[in-house]
Amino acid sequence: MVRLVINKIKRKIRKVISQIKFLKWIDAFLRLKKIQRKFDYYSNNDIIEDNNENAYSIDVINLNATDICNSGCTMCNIWKQKKEFEFSAEELCEILKDPLFNNLKHVGVTGGEPTLRKDLPQLFEAIIKAQPNIHGLSTITNCIREKNVIERIDASIEICKKYNKGFSMMVSLDGVGEVHDKVRGTKGNFESALRVINYYKNKGVSIATGTTISKVNVWGVDDMLVFLRENQIYGRFRVAEFIKRLYNDNRNEVIRNFDKDETYHLILFFYKLILTYEKDPTFQNTYYSIINILSGGERLIGCPYHSNGVVLNSKGELAYCAPKSKIIGNAIQQKAQKIYAENLSELSYIKNNHCSSCIHDYHAQITQNEVKNRNIKSYWKEYLKIDSIIPFSKHEKVKAQKISENMQIFITGWYGTETVGDKAILAQIIAELKLEFGTKTDIIVTSLFPHITQRTIEELDLQVTVIDAYSESFVAYAKGSELVIMGGGPLMDLDELALPLIAFKLAKTSGHRNVVYGCGLGPLFIDRNIRVVKKILYLADEIKLRDNESVRLANKLLNSSKNVVMTGDPAKRFVDQYQKQKTQKQKPILSCFLRELTYEYFRDKNYDVFLEMKQNFEKGLAEFILNKAKEINAEEIRFDHMHNFVVGNDDRDFSRYFIKNYFQSSEVKVSYNNRLSTVDSIVESMQQSQHNICMRFHSVLFAETLQTSFSAIDYTSGGKIFNYLSDCDKLGCLLTVDGISKLGK
Ligand code: SF4
Repeated sequence: MVRLVINKIKRKIRKVISQIKFLKWIDAFLRLKKIQRKFDYYSNNDIIEDNNENAYSIDVINLNATDICNSGCTMCNIWKQKKEFEFSAEELCEILKDPLFNNLKHVGVTGGEPTLRKDLPQLFEAIIKAQPNIHGLSTITNCIREKNVIERIDASIEICKKYNKGFSMMVSLDGVGEVHDKVRGTKGNFESALRVINYYKNKGVSIATGTTISKVNVWGVDDMLVFLRENQIYGRFRVAEFIKRLYNDNRNEVIRNFDKDETYHLILFFYKLILTYEKDPTFQNTYYSIINILSGGERLIGCPYHSNGVVLNSKGELAYCAPKSKIIGNAIQQKAQKIYAENLSELSYIKNNHCSSCIHDYHAQITQNEVKNRNIKSYWKEYLKIDSIIPFSKHEKVKAQKISENMQIFITGWYGTETVGDKAILAQIIAELKLEFGTKTDIIVTSLFPHITQRTIEELDLQVTVIDAYSESFVAYAKGSELVIMGGGPLMDLDELALPLIAFKLAKTSGHRNVVYGCGLGPLFIDRNIRVVKKILYLADEIKLRDNESVRLANKLLNSSKNVVMTGDPAKRFVDQYQKQKTQKQKPILSCFLRELTYEYFRDKNYDVFLEMKQNFEKGLAEFILNKAKEINAEEIRFDHMHNFVVGNDDRDFSRYFIKNYFQSSEVKVSYNNRLSTVDSIVESMQQSQHNICMRFHSVLFAETLQTSFSAIDYTSGGKIFNYLSDCDKLGCLLTVDGISKLGK
């Protein structure tokens, strides 16, 4: 009887489980469909040539109200133009009645400087009268003559209100303070621009800033972003382009003339905008496209001027686009639609010769090719997930890939988000592999952000192939490699644990070896992740960990069923070479390698309690730094950085904030390095300094290995920093967050 009841219960449980499974599959199916649908709405609207000129009509006009300017910009020559014929409001109205403009939705009134025209409001009215169904109008200004600017824009806004049309404006702002004035060649322009911005912000007018990036202001863009955030101003960023309309073909010393560091710095910056600032997917796509062009690729978005836009200058002349089109005719003398229809060979020429490399920020949908690429990436992102809805067996279709006949080694991990410490780890692992297996080995490194890892391998001159972690290549190379390595970094609570897990599974199905190489373990709080790490360890043929505590944890997870070895952090062996080879002359500098205090190590506390603690910690840390500077008679407190990428937190952002809030009245000179960090630059900085205050884990490791005088702040609450110092018997250098916070109370 009891047995019958138990069996009945068992059957019921099985039924519930199978129902849950079924629901899970339904959910999985719908999620997969959603991934596909997500990108379906993108398309690339290209013009289809038609023999009938009446077939052509456009949505948007870039209307140059004037061809003169009162600025003296370093990336433009329009201000060198002399005033010539300018259409009147009446003439403009006549031009815009042409059928080419019958579907007009938006006109951007630009220049030169449009507010130099006294009749600017009448121009706005002429546009609306000619095309009463227009949706909205906008303008852009340099705000140099702020009284005139406000007077003429106010009147233009009134016109738009009268006809119930949308209005928005953009203010050119290329940097903070002197940086802007230098770019614009106009003293005091930053302040006047700010007054105009505040005036319109207070009026509730839709206003944004536009920052044009050239060689002159490239290192000031992060300061600009901080300024915008602090002042709650919305801004957009563009890279200066050669633009026919601006007569700037000879400005090649400042336009698109970035060196390698500047280019990489901009790639990091545009990622920062996408991931933390810009919310609109259209503008995010423009930024992705800029990143791709900066990296040597092509434009990823279309352009409204391929089919929907036209440029109309103040003489009444038409062009297909501002950057590359020649003048195609005069709309005062000829029908605009006829001009547009009869010169399409010019548009084809532009598309065939310029568009793929054009970095100008005309916003549009992504190209068909990019739609395809994103769909593919989404699919592999879904496959390479811990709880993937795509069965593991799907990999069977993918062929194993070899670069050559050589032994092939596949290294995975969190590359793409690497700190300077992770760069050292990768360099050391590769050096050791080459030593063990010879130089005739092919090494593949997977990356979450291949642009970042590409830079790492160039910096360290590593002979490896970088592949996108979320791609078919991940599966193909993992299957084709004789050795698969989880290369450094911590096996911790990260969704990306799926990468080593799947790579190890693939290697096992192909009969190859797996190694956990120089990793740490933890923090691990989530049960699912603990199970995944356990699986990774079971799949490994060799386990080499970076500290004794990680070895203890691994043994616990494995019930001591496997051999786990403590080999130390590979970065330590890499930095050790510098200790032996190079010595820098010391200067009276106190260097700090800080990072923002984040919640992940304090999850036992309520978040509000954490925030209060964080504030006390920052105050206490500033106090500690100032006291230390006094103690060692430092002539300079310098903030340097182990990480420059927004994913994982750009330490330069923390320094900007920290200096602004706590070091304004410092008697000792305070500086921060806003340039890029490399293993070399960090070693040099540490060796030069009289004392180093280290917070980032690998800054502690670097400072200790280089045998410098240092203090270590354990933001890991007894985690990896404590473990490292304990292993090398340097706990005397350790400062706790609690201890520092007490100084701030
Ligand atoms: S050159 Fe640039 S602005 Fe001109 S049509 Fe091509 S993408 Fe658009």
